[in-house]
Amino acid sequence: MDLINILPDSVANQIAAGEVVDRPASAVKELLENAMDAGATQIDLVVKDAGRTLIQVIDNGCGMSDSDARLCFERHATSKIHQSNDLFAIRTMGFRGEALASIAAISQVELRTRLHDNELGTQVIIEGSQIVSQQPTACPPGTSMAMKNLFYNVPARRNFLKKDSVELSHIEEVFRRVTLIHYDLGFTLTSNGKLLYDLKAGSMLQRISQLYSNTYKERFYSVEEETDLLKIKGFVGKPEYARKTRGEQYLFVNGRFIKHPALSAAVERAYEGMLGDHCYPSYFIGLQVDPSRIDINIHPTKTEVKFVDEHAMFAILRSAVKKALGQFTLATELEFNTPAEFNIPPAPKGYVPPMPQISYNPNYNPFSSTPSQTHLHLEKVPKDFKTLNDLKNTKDLTPPPSLPKSTCLQVQNHYIVTPLTSGLAVIDQQRAHERILFDQLKQSNNQAIKQSQTLLFPVNCQFSAADADMFNELLPDLKDYGFAIDAMGQCTFVVTATPPDIKESELQECFDRMLADYKSSTLQKFNNRSQSLCTSLARQMAIKPGKTLSQEEMQQLVADLFACPQADTTPNGKKIITIVKPEELLK
Ligand code: ADP
Ligand code: MG
Repeated sequence: MDLINILPDSVANQIAAGEVVDRPASAVKELLENAMDAGATQIDLVVKDAGRTLIQVIDNGCGMSDSDARLCFERHATSKIHQSNDLFAIRTMGFRGEALASIAAISQVELRTRLHDNELGTQVIIEGSQIVSQQPTACPPGTSMAMKNLFYNVPARRNFLKKDSVELSHIEEVFRRVTLIHYDLGFTLTSNGKLLYDLKAGSMLQRISQLYSNTYKERFYSVEEETDLLKIKGFVGKPEYARKTRGEQYLFVNGRFIKHPALSAAVERAYEGMLGDHCYPSYFIGLQVDPSRIDINIHPTKTEVKFVDEHAMFAILRSAVKKALGQFTLATELEFNTPAEFNIPPAPKGYVPPMPQISYNPNYNPFSSTPSQTHLHLEKVPKDFKTLNDLKNTKDLTPPPSLPKSTCLQVQNHYIVTPLTSGLAVIDQQRAHERILFDQLKQSNNQAIKQSQTLLFPVNCQFSAADADMFNELLPDLKDYGFAIDAMGQCTFVVTATPPDIKESELQECFDRMLADYKSSTLQKFNNRSQSLCTSLARQMAIKPGKTLSQEEMQQLVADLFACPQADTTPNGKKIITIVKPEELLK
């Protein structure tokens, strides 16, 4: 008895579709690539229910003839290669002639397409690989490919789809991978009737900031290099913006997003010695290589590639990134040519520092011409403002007391030195501010009416899919601290109000670090999520070492610090103040 039979095309296509289209996002990728291959300059992506119900790509590319409009759904139907030699000179995104055959096998497709020279276009409806109808239609030049009810005939696969938010974030990721490198084309993305992105053709940096946030413009150095083998053009993140997670690391070859561990390592190696532990830089790097030196064909979705000259490429890429980082950091190094560490002699073992005491000179007038009073020396304690303890116990000192006007001195833009009765206080400016902000945030959290400032211009913040999920979870807590934040799309959030004293330009940064903190184990020791969030926010928002402070700012900071019940340590238990005692000064 013969057992073998040849599978009908529709079944064969359905099986093969599994390789090309495993989820809505992969269909999106294929359709966007086809539109670009057709020479479109404007490409609109429309999805409903994260692609489950509808994925439509409308382009103004070359369009198709009546017979091509039918043929394009056949397996191995492609206009992009003709013979096997062509495989080594591929400049288009597609070439396998598989995508549309696969898509038509597992959904209901409506194609409307028109050549620019024709008056009428053609409409083809195809379901489960069977052409249902073809008729002339009036439509704009170009192509609209609408695939409806993905996996309608493959329930098993339909059931494998994740919830809409997850599938949509995959679609957004595909959209970013395509649009980041094709910044010379216009794109839109509409989801359930809402326009999520409207990207105008422009420069790569413009595209990055359109996709992420305007603040990204200051976060990158440009990399540009041209050798016979390799052309490099892109942007690498400044080391200070490195993140604890591998977030935005995008590598492209000949207009295609790729994953290439060795080349990614080349970029990261260029940062050697510039980043903290477990910090990863962001980068967007486009490479141009002679297509004959690449084998793209090794993976059906074409994200993995092999290069003939991998070693040379590694070296070129690494030194190009190094150059970009070096060239630009030289200037800043010259500016801040001072060691960051300020040596405070370690206290003897078992030594418990006395509570700092504050003194001020009530007669001090910054505008008076007697200079002696502005010198740093230990002032006599005025009767009514004796010690820190007194200060703390005075109920009417909250909100912040009027300034105790000891002169402050900033050392290395990192420490504030100010005289107290017990000696000379050396205050770490960031840690001090951290404590002040922490107490403020906590207070705001407890109050029924939140302290909040409405932003003149709402700020968009953008996260990776995973981070966005986490951020969503934290939104209620953030609201308690006086933030007003709305989700817009899966990965974008609009901030319309913040607690007082937050710089809008630093919001993204602040949230990024907060999320990194939240993920890292350092915050696990707090069993209270709100507390850990508050700690992290305070740290992110605090002024950093390196910031020059005016006399008034320093005095305000010192006064605010001493108004805190726990002025001597940060919420994380780090020491804020060191006292150099008079005896030590004498020595
Ligand atoms: P491939 O892209 O690998 O050639 P596809 O199945 O994606 O295979 O597409 C088959 C063919 O259909 C393409 O080679 C192209 O000629 C035609 N085609 C697909 N999409 C478009 C489009 N948006 N505009 C014009 N032609 C298209
Ligand atoms: Mg294709």
